[in-house]
Amino acid sequence: MSVRVRFAPSPTGFLHVGGLRTALYNFLFARHSNGTFILRIEDTDRSRFVENAVENLVNSLKWAGIEFDEGPGVGGNYGPYTQSERLDIYKKHAGLLHDKEAAYYAFDTPEEIDEMRKRKSGDSFQKYDRLSMKNEFTLGKDETDRLLSSGAPFVFRLRVPDEKEIKFNDIIRGEVEVNSSEIDDQVLMKSDGYPTYHLANVVDDHLMRITHVIRGEEWLPSTPKHVILYDSFGWEKPEFAHLPLLLNPDKSKLSKRQGSVAVEDFASEGYFSDAFVNFIALLGWNPSSDREIYSINELIESFSLEKINKGGAVFDKAKLEWMNFQYLKDKPSSELADLLKPVLESKRYIGFSSDYLEKVINLFKERIKFVKDIPDIACYMFEAPKEYEKEYFEKYWKENTAVLIKDLLQMYKGCTAFVHQALYEMTKSYIENSGLKLKDIVHPIRLIITGQSTGAGMFETMEVLGKEECVSRIEQFLRNRF
Ligand code: GLU
Repeated sequence: MSVRVRFAPSPTGFLHVGGLRTALYNFLFARHSNGTFILRIEDTDRSRFVENAVENLVNSLKWAGIEFDEGPGVGGNYGPYTQSERLDIYKKHAGLLHDKEAAYYAFDTPEEIDEMRKRKSGDSFQKYDRLSMKNEFTLGKDETDRLLSSGAPFVFRLRVPDEKEIKFNDIIRGEVEVNSSEIDDQVLMKSDGYPTYHLANVVDDHLMRITHVIRGEEWLPSTPKHVILYDSFGWEKPEFAHLPLLLNPDKSKLSKRQGSVAVEDFASEGYFSDAFVNFIALLGWNPSSDREIYSINELIESFSLEKINKGGAVFDKAKLEWMNFQYLKDKPSSELADLLKPVLESKRYIGFSSDYLEKVINLFKERIKFVKDIPDIACYMFEAPKEYEKEYFEKYWKENTAVLIKDLLQMYKGCTAFVHQALYEMTKSYIENSGLKLKDIVHPIRLIITGQSTGAGMFETMEVLGKEECVSRIEQFLRNRF
């Protein structure tokens, strides 16, 4: 039987990094097994509806390169399956469960439910009390029919069997067993006609012929309820794999309080999608003990559900940054230059050739975390400095510095090959002949050309800026100061 898996998010506004990990593992497993990966939007909780949430979600998945293989739409241009468009299907299946006496009508008002819970507040588990509430069992058939025909609001509840061991196998956790006395008579259809997560999820997983349910550990307590539903329908169950929790470095559950958890934020911070996906893939799984960098094809090739860890996985931002840097170093400069262009444009630095930007990239590649950092640390590559670091100036500017600089300016003007090696040798021999050390002049030159005290190699920087620009900066500095 060929593998069919799904990612089934509820659209709550953005794609959580944990959601991306779930989507990715499903995707890797599908690709590894030549199977099918489906995206299903679970939006039956209308109280949590968020405008544009689906669009955001699909865009974040696309950014990460996670593509789904099936869905409504034509010509490979699929949309996701959407539960709110399938309400008739769930209604029909709630009816089927009722016919099988596996679900029942209940007419309790929210106030009555509250009262019941208060009554049972001493119990560790405030389960729906089937025997004292307003439902088919206590009201009888005639009253139930009367209420239904009078249009009274009702819900469908799952009739959880009494005292039964509910068992299932989890690929990551092994055998899981729960006694049905610990399971509530879950609402399956709400009074607004929408199904709850449990009903819609199980019906869709069955109808969509899902073979493996791969989802976060937080859904583990729901699985016994789903098992009861599969058994009640008389359906074969899929395999289950519950992925370990994502944790903050202090081992608490990953939360917004300790930094961003939205995939789109990482994208706009400037992380590369391939580095990010590589990092996410290793949260809970690694096919080898001594390797961290994997291309998407390598991830697909080595993926296996059996090798996923049970224990929580720490979301370590320092490791993510390190990972991003490994990718950055290896990216072709032309690709990085393409990314730099819009960043510069947003800061109104325009008119730079791709060739120039590539050279700038080569100069700073080893010194940045993100391409977008370049104009912040080296705006002087795009405009002459407007001011000069004062302290630095006072420290390095000596009585004879202006004279030396004037001489060097003449030499630079006459220089026919304005390349770093020649600039270095020319400057070094001149300065040593004057009885000084190279560093005595490199600092002032850096100050004049960049306005700053630190940067990439000085002569390399001058080579990239070019003779005309360097000469003009030195002349302007001397004109303004002396
Ligand atoms: N709708 C659930 C979610 O938001 C899906 C859980 C599952 O995969 O069954 O994550």
